[in-house]
Amino acid sequence: MKIDLNRSDGSTTTFDLSVKPSDIELETDLARVKDDISVKGAVSSEDHYTVIEAEIAAPLEIDCSRCLERIPVDQEFAFKTAFASAQQLTEEIEVELDLQDLELSFAEEDEIDLRDVIREQIVLNLPAHPLCREDCKGLCEICGGNLNKASCDCEREETDPRWAALKNLK
Ligand SMILES: [Zn+2]
Ligand SMILES: [Zn+2]
Repeated sequence: MKIDLNRSDGSTTTFDLSVKPSDIELETDLARVKDDISVKGAVSSEDHYTVIEAEIAAPLEIDCSRCLERIPVDQEFAFKTAFASAQQLTEEIEVELDLQDLELSFAEEDEIDLRDVIREQIVLNLPAHPLCREDCKGLCEICGGNLNKASCDCEREETDPRWAALKNLK
């Protein structure tokens, strides 16, 4: 779905889409889309900018940040963001959007693809340190084995994190 940023007639268009995994390339190694993404929302064409507001439900598979196992995650979130094309953007608009507490994205083209917006929002909303479980033991730093599945006989130095911090100061 293409959105014309120069359409400034005050109109609002709603959408309710199902986006196939093959239509969204996340461009990150940290997560993959596993199933259809549901996107419901509205595009409002204001005077000098366009507001996109939507709710996204994306079935993802994210790598555990410690053991790298794949975790199924249903990522659900809402966002609201304003877009302006290069020729529309003025300082007054930036101030106006700021007052409304709206995040402004700047587009070089006069048209944006809703799929690009969805991709960007999914990546922005990925958890910073996903864990397969709270007490994930991670990988052995010597043999690389997954310590959740089996312990190994490697002699790992049990370093106290406080001492490790001091070590790094040297
Ligand atoms: Zn893990
Ligand atoms: Zn090991």
